[in-house]
Amino acid sequence: MTIFAPLSRKSPTIDKIETFLVDLPTIRPHRLSVATMEGQTLMLVRLHMSDGIIGTGEGATIAGLAYGPESPESMKLHIDTYLAPVLATCDPTRIRATMETLSKAVKGNHFAKSAVETALLDAQGQRVGLPVSELLGGRVRERLPVAWTLASGDTARDIAEAEEMLARRRHNVFKLKIGRQPVRQDVAHVAAIKAALGERASVRVDVNMAWSESEANFGLAALADAGCDLVEQPVARVDALARLTARGIVPVMADESLQGPASAFDLAAQHAADVFAVKIEQSGGLDAAARVAEIADAAGIALYGGTMLEGAVSTIASAHLFATFPRLAFGTELFGPLLITEEMLTEPLDYSDFALTVPKGPGLGIALDEDRIARFRRDGPRRTLSVVASGQKG
Ligand SMILES: [Mg+2]
Repeated sequence: MTIFAPLSRKSPTIDKIETFLVDLPTIRPHRLSVATMEGQTLMLVRLHMSDGIIGTGEGATIAGLAYGPESPESMKLHIDTYLAPVLATCDPTRIRATMETLSKAVKGNHFAKSAVETALLDAQGQRVGLPVSELLGGRVRERLPVAWTLASGDTARDIAEAEEMLARRRHNVFKLKIGRQPVRQDVAHVAAIKAALGERASVRVDVNMAWSESEANFGLAALADAGCDLVEQPVARVDALARLTARGIVPVMADESLQGPASAFDLAAQHAADVFAVKIEQSGGLDAAARVAEIADAAGIALYGGTMLEGAVSTIASAHLFATFPRLAFGTELFGPLLITEEMLTEPLDYSDFALTVPKGPGLGIALDEDRIARFRRDGPRRTLSVVASGQKG
């Protein structure tokens, strides 16, 4: 008699979880209403699996804790201390189940979870030979329009920067970071840039919640007169966003108010925005961001692919997701890697003709330049030397 054992598939396990910080210089200071960024720190996570596959994820924020409650340092700490022991018990090929288990064990920490989910998807894509976009339902586009943010803080310098981007055919949509100056001064800055660029470019603004409702009431009308196409998060409060949206002066976009699917539903139910800035990290991961987009789409709210000024890993993870959106009326702002002076990939991303090409290879479809990473790791030996060297320059 032959006894057949039940068929079983041996799932891989996560054998090692590596997290580290990379401090990178930016091409210029990046001025926002909340802070001025002089550099960018990325938290990278690598999941080493028992089948030999390594998945990579990234967490980044805007100016440490100035933008939100998570920092690259906190992401690393929380992955090492709280997420890693749970991940060790999960089947990494069951990504949604793994993320659900993590959600039960750890509240909040959207950015850290997004980094882990990105690494799981990267690994799974490599395992099955498919790009992450195909694991997320399948891409409907190969190229994504990419806006550039003008945030030098100087009108003439911003115009020169925009002209250069137009001449290079890299960007023809410009987002201006405002909210630091009095409203009239900010509006004059936007109007001067729009007057210089004319119909050659779309000009939009991000106020990063800096205005009161009365400032926004004046600001939106003045910005519409100046030819501004979109106003991102002019105020913090959702009820005020809803009143501004109802006035219908210029499209209003929600960003900071969107913290995952539940907030997306609340905003949609209150008609609090015309456009959603979808961000994988702020949403709590790619799957959560996909649900944010579906809620928007069902509610007739337009979509925009947002960034946390991420490096190549999170930028491309976002690109894989945004490439699956059937409607993406306001394009994306996936320019994060272009703000960093260093090329972190062995093969640079294709930014050309005002768009980014979504990689076709398995997983994320990118390869990090390990020498560069080692050089800029906060705990790396060469990084320590370079800190001493720049200290000597004064
Ligand atoms: Mg924003």
